[in-house]
Amino acid sequence: MKRRPTSKVTPERARVYNTRLVLKTIYERGEISRADIARSTRLARPTVSDVVADLMAEGLIEELGYGPSTGGKRPLLLALATGSRQLIGLNLARERFSGALIDLRGEIAHRVDLPLDGRNGNVALDFVYSAVDALIAASNRPLLGIGVGAPGLVDAASGVMRQAVNLNWRDVPLRDLLQERYSLPVLIANDCQVAALAEYTFGDNIAGVRDLIVINVGWGVGAGIIHDGHLLYGNPLGAGEIGHVVIDKGGERCPCGNTGCLETLVSTHAILRRARSLARQDPDSLLHQFSSHPEAMAFDTVCQAFNSGDPGVRCEIEEVGHSLGAAAANLVGAFGSCRILIAGPVSCFGQFLLDAIREEMAERCFPSLATETEIGFVSLGSDIVLLGASALLLHNELGLFAAPLG
Ligand SMILES: [Zn+2]
Repeated sequence: MKRRPTSKVTPERARVYNTRLVLKTIYERGEISRADIARSTRLARPTVSDVVADLMAEGLIEELGYGPSTGGKRPLLLALATGSRQLIGLNLARERFSGALIDLRGEIAHRVDLPLDGRNGNVALDFVYSAVDALIAASNRPLLGIGVGAPGLVDAASGVMRQAVNLNWRDVPLRDLLQERYSLPVLIANDCQVAALAEYTFGDNIAGVRDLIVINVGWGVGAGIIHDGHLLYGNPLGAGEIGHVVIDKGGERCPCGNTGCLETLVSTHAILRRARSLARQDPDSLLHQFSSHPEAMAFDTVCQAFNSGDPGVRCEIEEVGHSLGAAAANLVGAFGSCRILIAGPVSCFGQFLLDAIREEMAERCFPSLATETEIGFVSLGSDIVLLGASALLLHNELGLFAAPLG
């Protein structure tokens, strides 16, 4: 009988594994003694002491002092040295690039914001460098690396931006370009995917959750899927690209080339376009009163008219909810009952939007799966993509969560 090849556990591999396990335990527990780490990880006490000594030498953890006694000697507590490293997070959004220096717990220390004003191609690439240059100049701690969330089709394993329509980028090897220029670890993923990773890493009420879907509804629309504790990238790319699934075959033309994609129905751009049309049609509407020049209407005006009870806007948002509900039903069909959270400016439509999503989803999937699926909003605000980009580094460079790339 042929022996199957086995991956040998070398002492070096065991040490990396143990180090990541101890660091993860300290990260999750907040404050913990060496004895409790040994109990929790089932590692031998001397092993824990060795690993803790290494992590302290690297400055990643620190001793907090003695905690209260639970019967015997008072335990010496350890904690993550939250400010010992800085992470660079970048959000290459459609109209503006933003970036931030972020600590190991997701606190933002410094930001940059670069409006693109229609620039694309190599000029937009120079804007990425400008953002990183400014953040490196502002950093005052060792940098763990650069994490990037970008719209479009991103091959996370190879770090290549396959297609970003608004930036006019095709097959741009952004990871290698940044790595060569800055000699730092660089990780890149789709912006909706990293939004899910952000909520999974830094969000509220997430303890014990292993399956989570975040539907990002902004200028673009897409989902990020955490399945059994792992972020799904697609193989090699495209997991969660629900924005370009056609919902209405005879609908509006989409920049992707198809007509009636989900994005043409529910994106903030689509909502705004229809709100402008409503305002023009009905000069007596609240929408028109709040916006004397419908062509210059901002998304906030739509939220204001909605909250003031404009019937045309409410009807519009109900339709948006039903389209998102159809998409949610398909996701539940593929991944089973789970927690589905909506991110983006549409959160201003509150429970009304969630009820419309739930109603449509319940009519389109197995009833008990719909009942067991939670629909809500993410707990993180407009920095969700920046935080998710930095979370890529926590996952891959420090092994704090289970989401390996490639
Ligand atoms: Zn499309």
